Amino acid sequence: MLWFLTLTQSCNLACKYCGSSENFDIEDLSPHPREISFDLNLLKRIQKDPDPVIAFYGGEPLLKMRLFKQIMELIPNAKYVLQTNAILLSKLKTEILHKFDCILISVDGDEKVTDYNRGEGTYQKVLENIRNIRERGFKGDLIARMTISEVSDIYTDVLHLISLGLFDHIHWQIDCLWDSEMTARWKDFYKWRDEIYNPGITKLAALFIEELRKGNVLPIVPFLGLLSSFIEGKKATLRCGAGRTSFNITTGGYVNACPVAPEFDPISKLDDDFDPNSVRDSVFIGGLCNDCEILDKCGGRCLYTNKNMWWGKKGFRAVCNTVKHLVAQMDEILPEVKDLAQKKVFDMDLMNYPKYNNTCEIIP
Ligand code: SF4
Ligand code: SF4
Repeated sequence: MLWFLTLTQSCNLACKYCGSSENFDIEDLSPHPREISFDLNLLKRIQKDPDPVIAFYGGEPLLKMRLFKQIMELIPNAKYVLQTNAILLSKLKTEILHKFDCILISVDGDEKVTDYNRGEGTYQKVLENIRNIRERGFKGDLIARMTISEVSDIYTDVLHLISLGLFDHIHWQIDCLWDSEMTARWKDFYKWRDEIYNPGITKLAALFIEELRKGNVLPIVPFLGLLSSFIEGKKATLRCGAGRTSFNITTGGYVNACPVAPEFDPISKLDDDFDPNSVRDSVFIGGLCNDCEILDKCGGRCLYTNKNMWWGKKGFRAVCNTVKHLVAQMDEILPEVKDLAQKKVFDMDLMNYPKYNNTCEIIP
């Protein structure tokens, strides 16, 4: 199972779309204090999960890098994932760096787009630190994790990040449905969706199949995740696994379904009797997803937004339009992808991604 571990609620950036610094006072959200307040030794209980993945999360987890070694020693049978803004990445000890199987770096596209959302100088610092860890021999999966907003052009931003040659994979989430009404951060979501985002996905899908014909598998996570599961032919369940096979351990030592949902009632608490297997399959997607004609392909996109409906039904459906468009694009290229796979034109192992839940939600 996947275990997010929220190491702190503090962050050293103040990105435009992040609720942690502006929308509510986390200090007041007991039982989730700003810093870890439980006995770290209780994390040993996670060892009872036969196949644990631990994702260090925040806030900014590198602010707590002094805890990494201790936690890694407490759960030695885990795979380790880091989700970070990378500002302090060059300060991480090489010995610890190499223990990560996967690092997801927050970056939104080129310098202009990234710095607009994350603050001036962020893009250059992030690239400098990525080069630093590559020079120090980091060979794990390095993922550009984009947050897509109204200034984003998905086609050019994804291609820019691929062209840097620094990342193994590119993934994104749209800044939608999280924490406030649609108009809080969007001037015109519908216009952006119909004129920029959906057409950009169409162009990316066309490029993807064009490259596949030459044997190149573009490392675009939502495409790989969907196509590989469509080839496998299994009905999708919520792809991020929240509430079923993915959980968050809060700073207060509570276990909940998702790291961005501190306001949800905890499912369990980390104590001397905690059994990680007891929380499996605790929460399920519902509401509008239950009647959706592509539920078996989508899986439900996001448990948190499915439950809280920040944008109302109309707004929720407006986002689902992007999911349906993405799925339709993948459906359209699927027969040729299968044909090329059968002819061994490309390496199917590169398409089968991710190999385990490394925190990429697949559906943006
Ligand atoms: S497209 Fe929307 S309604 Fe349909 S399953 Fe996905 S998230 Fe749910
Ligand atoms: S996709 Fe939604 S439910 Fe799943 S981990 Fe992300 S925020 Fe939580």
